[in-house]
Amino acid sequence: MPAAKSLPERGLDASTVFETLEGLRRNDVRWREGRAFSLAYNAGPEALAVAEEAYRRFSGENALNTGAFPSLRQIQADVVDMTKPWLGASNEGAGFMTSGGTESILMAVKSARDRLAQERKIVRPNMVLPISAHAAFDKAGAYFGVELRRVDVLDDWRADVSAMRRVVDDHTVLVVGSAPQYPQGVVDDIPAIASLAAEHGANCHVDACMGGVTLAYLERLGEPTKPWNLKVPGVSSISVDLHKFGYTSKGASVIMYANKHLRSFQGFVTDKWLGGLYGSSGVLGTKSGGSMASAWAVMNFLGDDGYLRLTKQAREATLQLAKIIDESEHLVLRAEPETTLLCFGAREPARLSVFGVGDELNRLGWYVDRQSPPDSLHCTVNAIHHDKIQLFSEALTSATQTALHKNTAGQQGAYGTLD
Ligand SMILES: *Cc1c(COP(=O)(O)O)cnc(C)c1O
Repeated sequence: MPAAKSLPERGLDASTVFETLEGLRRNDVRWREGRAFSLAYNAGPEALAVAEEAYRRFSGENALNTGAFPSLRQIQADVVDMTKPWLGASNEGAGFMTSGGTESILMAVKSARDRLAQERKIVRPNMVLPISAHAAFDKAGAYFGVELRRVDVLDDWRADVSAMRRVVDDHTVLVVGSAPQYPQGVVDDIPAIASLAAEHGANCHVDACMGGVTLAYLERLGEPTKPWNLKVPGVSSISVDLHKFGYTSKGASVIMYANKHLRSFQGFVTDKWLGGLYGSSGVLGTKSGGSMASAWAVMNFLGDDGYLRLTKQAREATLQLAKIIDESEHLVLRAEPETTLLCFGAREPARLSVFGVGDELNRLGWYVDRQSPPDSLHCTVNAIHHDKIQLFSEALTSATQTALHKNTAGQQGAYGTLD
């Protein structure tokens, strides 16, 4: 085992510090070169430079108290406003910036729980959701004491709304749909899910963490999209991650509510300590202005035309990759990609392990996600990939051949890790 690191007795010079830091990321996936189909998003060097410069300038500012930093109040208000057309919010729509999709989802669950505790005295709350909905809902249930009622999906991986209907009851505070769900990239039947929630007086959250930007622009690019946002009657909140297809620095998401009343249950206020009145909108206390300023800067830098162009690039790359997999002898698409997420497995799992293919792709310097059940590889295709699909396809062919030849099971992998 390497010796535990101790603080240097005397501070090092900055150049040594940075040299060592760069050394530490020797084995990191090279996402800036478009080799990651997961975890990182890239709209090219110019947007990246804007994101990083804004982050650098505001990294020490603290959104815990916007009385001291009115800039951050304005930045949050602007960012939330700029996402309104994407999310179909009316003038009454009201939102907050959060640190990411997980925090947005945690807050949607908390708001639902607290609204129904207050308005209907529900003390043993549950939420109803398909098994395709993100793991963050399990986290929220565990943190906030809300029982999860997960139901199976249909053969096409979409939420089975009839099955959801069977488990909704008088204690249901939240009904969930995704646009799209992460694992297979399909969009749930949001109107049916929202109307189920409305019938029971529960909140309805649409998880558009992944698809919020893309679906808005696919519509504009003339692709048929099903209703998915706050325009659908009965949807009470929706999340969109700016640090995904908003192409901004990590630590930025928006949760938007249909109105201020629904949003009012998100906040937390106390004065029962010696430090005075403490109010905060989300999970965090101290909250860096870096990710907020970065989001503001990138959104202004890219603009509406920028997002339209980037969505087109990512979508074209997705369809190109989908076609390659569809035509391949050994691989099979789990679903036709509806946005820019793509999931595939082995045609004959007894002969070929897709995780073995994943291992070989790693060896060739590519990173894709692994998921199950069923054993699958998953690609989040973004703008950086628009000229990388041919290269990736060659790696995929070679990885498949090697995996067939080696005939090993491959490593299962994980979406997230504990350490
Ligand atoms: C990424 C994602 C989340 C979680 O967001 P984080 O930013 O990783 O916390 C939730 N739902 C969906 C559909 C996602 O793709």
